[in-house]
Amino acid sequence: MRGGGPDSMRPVRDAKGGAGVSIRPGDLLDTLKIVWTASPRHTLTYAATSLLGSALPAANLYVGKLLLDEVARSVQGNVTYQSLLTLLAFQVGLTVLGSLLSTFQGAAQQLLGDSLQHGVSRRILDKAAGMSVEAFENAETYDKLQQAYREVGTRPLGVATQLIGLVGAVVTLVSVGALIAQLGFWVLPLVLLASLPGVWVSNRFGVENYRMLRWQTHDARVQNYLGSLLTSDTLVKEVRLFGFEPYLLRRWREYYLGFRKQLEDIVRRRALWGFGASLLSALLIGVASALILRRAADGMIGVGDFSVFILGIAQVQGTVSGFLNGLSGIYQNLLYMRNLFEFLELPDRDLNAGETWSGPIHTIEFQDVGFRYPLTERDVLRGVNFTVRRGQALALVGENGAGKTTTVKLLTRLFEPTSGRILLNGLDSARFSPRSVQKEMSIIFQDFGQYQMSVRDNVAIAEVERLADRPGVEQAIEQAGAAFVGSLPDTLDTPLGRLFQGGRQLSGGQWQRLALARLYFRDASVLVFDEPTAALDARAEFETMEALRGQARDRITFLISHRFSTVRLADHILVLDGGVVTEAGSHAELLARGGKYASLYRLQASGYGPEGAP
Ligand code: ADP
Repeated sequence: MRGGGPDSMRPVRDAKGGAGVSIRPGDLLDTLKIVWTASPRHTLTYAATSLLGSALPAANLYVGKLLLDEVARSVQGNVTYQSLLTLLAFQVGLTVLGSLLSTFQGAAQQLLGDSLQHGVSRRILDKAAGMSVEAFENAETYDKLQQAYREVGTRPLGVATQLIGLVGAVVTLVSVGALIAQLGFWVLPLVLLASLPGVWVSNRFGVENYRMLRWQTHDARVQNYLGSLLTSDTLVKEVRLFGFEPYLLRRWREYYLGFRKQLEDIVRRRALWGFGASLLSALLIGVASALILRRAADGMIGVGDFSVFILGIAQVQGTVSGFLNGLSGIYQNLLYMRNLFEFLELPDRDLNAGETWSGPIHTIEFQDVGFRYPLTERDVLRGVNFTVRRGQALALVGENGAGKTTTVKLLTRLFEPTSGRILLNGLDSARFSPRSVQKEMSIIFQDFGQYQMSVRDNVAIAEVERLADRPGVEQAIEQAGAAFVGSLPDTLDTPLGRLFQGGRQLSGGQWQRLALARLYFRDASVLVFDEPTAALDARAEFETMEALRGQARDRITFLISHRFSTVRLADHILVLDGGVVTEAGSHAELLARGGKYASLYRLQASGYGPEGAP
């Protein structure tokens, strides 16, 4: 497992993570478009049922008031049982209608949420699939991806339901407000005012909470990573042996304590402000009640009106706070949406842009190639020149960080050179689409994939058009010397890995043989071996190198290796040092030269080299 060096694990504050986020004018409309396209039918159903439902509270209050007034009048004996029953029927009718509407509303919301989850996930995955390798190597982009994916289903639905809720709240407020306003001039303003303090508090702390979470994104990732080290099956041996569990746990906990401190601070302040707000509300409601009771004492309002007041207060308070919370909820959800949009707006790399390359590659020529990783200050390759022809094998040698893997990334068009050119058959490679050029190349990376899928998938995904090509897979497996496949319970169809039930775990060397088979399976004219023998034993290495020589005859082979026993088989060897080619030639030539290559070779041959005996 690579990556995650000490630097990347230091708590870093993402400069854009804090107050810097702000929504853009078009975000609301864009979000609603996403919701609408996810499912027009369910959006309409949800909107219609919500709005109809919003008029029900006022209707209920009004029928309730009529009923109470009738009951009060019946005490005086001038009301028929029939008219009471009619009112009751209305009330029951309203209740039934309410249940019906909320049933439809709930169903529409659930289905709409599901469609949205699927639709937005799909857009994120599409986007991720089209992003360049360099975007994945950039921490900020990676944070965005993670955050967008985490919030995927809930946020757009939140914006839509809250927006519809706002319109519904206006309907409810206007209708219930009209009923309450009849009770006296000051009553409605007081009731409205009483709802504000609570809403203000919840809004203020909602935004703060969001900012806190955003600040924590990076640290939370580091914490997660630390946790994953403790629960990883591949790392458990190393972790146990070096015994650094307490260190990992301590760091994991330090992050937790940091989050906890921020949370406690927010919770404490929120509780204080919340308490103050409810006191203020109670005071205002008290004043309104006193005013109403004054009018009741004067005989100006009846029992039905009083019930409108009492029930109306709760209704108005609930609706106002729903309204304002909805506003701030929309704002907060739009902040999350901005994050999603920022992610979706990241530049794509169109791997199909350019002319289509077809046919085998006969020559590769690097002309003065230089490269600097985006957002860094240092050229990691400078003035690299070499030519390699069909039938030849080229080995790249050099210490860690010399630029070997970067050279391969440029060759395979995962990155583009920042200066110089790469010629294929004499033509500038940049003219051709990366995808079409990549089709002619096959590679085994040092950190090759161990796909938790079947053996066949592990090999054939190198050329998915040929997933069903069983003989082809068998041949590649044979070439790679992965004979162990024959003894697996379901041979090619055996599921691999420990992640899923029934999977067979393989050894490091076996996984690597499958990665080799994957390389052979693709019918390519350029083969790249990035440390192919690192996980293989001596015999396996010998076999692999023999096979490689057989394979390489009508192809171009690139080889990165620390083992000179492997490197010496190459026709041409480039020694890279700090991004510059310092020596080039065949094994014999380089030895005769007595330079760096010769001294490294002698060191290893003596058995004391960094890679042990050859
Ligand atoms: P090698 O394969 O010879 O060990 P690499 O090509 O991986 O070396 O790395 C060459 C240099 O580029 C190193 O200094 C490394 O730190 C730097 N580097 C590699 N990958 C990245 C990246 N994604 N972003 C920035 N710098 C990188």
